[in-house]
Amino acid sequence: MAEELRLMSVHAHADDETITMGGLLASCADRGILTCNVCCTDGKLATIVAADMPEETTRPHLAEIRQQELRAACEILGVTEVHFLGYGDSGMWGEDTNQLPDGFWKADIDEAVGRLVTHIRRFQPQVVVTYDGVGGYGHPDHIQTHRVTMLAVEAAHQKALYPQAGEPWRVQKLYYTALPLSFLKKASEMAQAAGMDPPFGIENPEDLPFVTPDAWVTTTVDIRAGVPRKRAALVAHHSQIAPDWPMLAVPEEVTIEHFGTEAFQLVISRTPPSLPETDVFAGIEAPTALTV
Ligand SMILES: [Zn+2]
Repeated sequence: MAEELRLMSVHAHADDETITMGGLLASCADRGILTCNVCCTDGKLATIVAADMPEETTRPHLAEIRQQELRAACEILGVTEVHFLGYGDSGMWGEDTNQLPDGFWKADIDEAVGRLVTHIRRFQPQVVVTYDGVGGYGHPDHIQTHRVTMLAVEAAHQKALYPQAGEPWRVQKLYYTALPLSFLKKASEMAQAAGMDPPFGIENPEDLPFVTPDAWVTTTVDIRAGVPRKRAALVAHHSQIAPDWPMLAVPEEVTIEHFGTEAFQLVISRTPPSLPETDVFAGIEAPTALTV
């Protein structure tokens, strides 16, 4: 039954869930699939882009603001549960803030994995989505999110590990979010034709650190029905996402035509997958308590 299906997304900061997979979350809501978004950090070191949020008065409350923005965005997307892992933002790669004692980058890995194992065993997702080994683009908090999620997914079904964290649960499929090179090339051509700056200000999409080779993309999800909600959720992340964000800068119908899919890379599957696929729940069997 559809209500037995559950998906957990694990992200570094508020807004990552909407940017990378807001359409998938909305489509899960449409199908009666329960979703749980775990946000690892408070995001308090992020650049504030909103014109009406002055640095001096906003910065001291940014963690709280971003928590509210995430809850608002997740409500729009129909996310069932929102949780915070409780770590501080580590700032961009190479910054002194990477060494902050409350930062996720300096977190005790065993403790962080234990916290996520608790969420996995409680929520019992068949599908988990997170980032690849460079965290999508190299942000320390994204890399740490990748590490902690991979370890937690494998620890969750081993009863000898984290015995206080609940009954073992085996996740059936694990995905990385993906931004296919072909998608960025198309976006770059469109921007050029319209006389606009290329996405992320870089002429050659191959030079971007976060593109996924198309051959690695296993799963392309049709999110057209959820595009209006994804746009509204992007707007809800007011402190982070300005009106010139690529998906907001063009009319809704153009967005539906050109941003109507989200891509993922399947990296763990307990049963042989049939690829390519269009549904992250493809091949999922009835919920199982299979453990080792
Ligand atoms: Zn992030």
